Amino acid sequence: MHTYKAAENALKDKVILITGAGDGIGRVAALTYAKQGATVILLGKTTSKLEAVYDEIINAGGPQPAIVPMDLKGATKQNYRDLAATIAQQFGKLDGLLNNAGILGSLGPLEHFCVSTFENIMKVNVTAQAMITKYMFPVLRKSPSASVIFTSSGVGRKGREFWGAYAISKFAVEGMMQTWASEVGKTNIRINCINPGATRTAMRASAYPGEDRDKLATAEDLMPTYLYLMSDDSKEVNGQSLDAQQK
Ligand code: NDP
Repeated sequence: MHTYKAAENALKDKVILITGAGDGIGRVAALTYAKQGATVILLGKTTSKLEAVYDEIINAGGPQPAIVPMDLKGATKQNYRDLAATIAQQFGKLDGLLNNAGILGSLGPLEHFCVSTFENIMKVNVTAQAMITKYMFPVLRKSPSASVIFTSSGVGRKGREFWGAYAISKFAVEGMMQTWASEVGKTNIRINCINPGATRTAMRASAYPGEDRDKLATAEDLMPTYLYLMSDDSKEVNGQSLDAQQK
């Protein structure tokens, strides 16, 4: 899918919710989806970052986005229920959910892991994604063809020393995607994963501070796979974990 080219306006009339839309890969996915005609709902922790993405979309002539400032660490059932109700009221349906927001925590030996950091990582990377997906189901069901994408990682497929809770959380994401995908089966909802691969973002820089950033793929380089899974061209694809970069 690394060479996928979407037709012009491939996401026209689609409503897509993106978590972690203010920075990194989520920001570029939001801009890319809006450029293809989607109305994007920008969810993230830092309101000023979401506003900057909003402005970029409007300045580029894209459909008016919506902004949802939300800290996934502390979000409650009621927050998600309210969000689903607002989406139902304003748009009548949800065609896409990109579960992208994530945190790295700190790397180090599991023997010495910090319990509260571990719990925060699980909350943001796993529990919040399970909750938001569950509570968006009623609006996803209203779409003629809805795509849910989870964000995995290489360390979510094969354990690696010192990646601790982050790696464990990404294994959970892969398992969550597979379980959910087997439950939805052949319905209007499909559920898949993307492993972005090493990408030039703030998260990558905090994991590898000494690395030459210029040698890394950019978030823009990943977008063919992000577009493919969100467009109707992937209607029959369910339960897959795709790599956004060629190995
Ligand atoms: P960044 O750290 O650059 O961006 C993460 C985004 O998630 C930010 O917009 C951030 O918001 C948001 N976010 C973090 N915590 C919360 C929270 N509690 N509530 C709401 N939003 C939150 O990360 P990347 O773009 O690099 O990563 C995106 C996804 O890709 C993650 O799931 C990551 O695990 C995965 N990934 C990334 C790789 C890489 O090399 N970059 C490789 C493999 C996987 P704010 O800026 O406001 O804090």
